[in-house]
Amino acid sequence: MPLHIEVITPERKVYEDEVDMVIAPASEGYVGILPHHAPLLTSLGPGEFRVKKGGGEEVLAVFGGFMDVREGRVTVLTEAAEHVEEIDVQRAQAARERAQQALAAPVSAADEQRARAALQRALIRIRVSERRRRRGA
Ligand code: ATP
Repeated sequence: MPLHIEVITPERKVYEDEVDMVIAPASEGYVGILPHHAPLLTSLGPGEFRVKKGGGEEVLAVFGGFMDVREGRVTVLTEAAEHVEEIDVQRAQAARERAQQALAAPVSAADEQRARAALQRALIRIRVSERRRRRGA
C-alpha cells in the first residue's frame, strides 16, 4: 500500500503523489512516515522534506505549518514549499546576505528575530539546491 501525499501552500498545490515513504522536518526533529503509520498531527519546522519512491528520492524545502498523517494519507499545509528545481539560488544567496547584514546591526529585537528566520530559510534553500548539484541531476 503506497502513501498518498499532498503538500499545499496558501498559493498552490506544490506536490501530490503516491510514494513509499516520507521524511519530514517536524518541530521536534525529523520523522519518517511509512504506510500504516499511526495517526499523527505535528507542526513542521523549516527544513528538507524528503519523499522516497521506487528507489528514488525527491526533496522539497518546506517552511513551517502542519502535517497530518492518517489512513495512508499525508497532508502538509505549509507557508511555503519549493521543489529543488524551483529554488532560485541567487535569490536565496541575496536573502542570506541581507539577513546577515541585518543581524550584524539589528535595529530591534523583532528585527533580529525576523533576520534570523530569513537567514534560516535562505540556508535551507541553499542546502537543498546544493544537494541537487552534488547529485548532478
Ligand atoms: P525573499 O527575501 O527572497 O523573498 P523569503 O525567505 O522572505 O525570501 P518566503 O517568505 O519564504 O521568502 O517566500 C515567499 C514566496 O517566495 C514563497 O512562495 C516562496 O516559495 C518563494 N520563494 C522565496 N525564496 C525563493 C527562492 N530562493 N527560490 C524560489 N522561490 C522562493
